[in-house]
Amino acid sequence: MDRRCPDCDVHMEDVKLRTYDANPLAVTTDEHREGILGKLGVHERLDVKALMCPRCGLVRTYADLGDLD
Ligand SMILES: [Zn+2]
Repeated sequence: MDRRCPDCDVHMEDVKLRTYDANPLAVTTDEHREGILGKLGVHERLDVKALMCPRCGLVRTYADLGDLD
């Protein structure tokens, strides 16, 4: 999927967004996971994809919904 910077209108590049302890970021939704994990109260966790504008440095993050791209 081609994402463009809203300010510069240039192609944004994939970057890795990580915390200081090197874990990748993730979002947790209110949806419970299916199966046994959901019964245990585990919430669905989505990976986060980050894009950076090479011109102005804007970083945008998208939860990986699985059906994009
Ligand atoms: Zn930009």
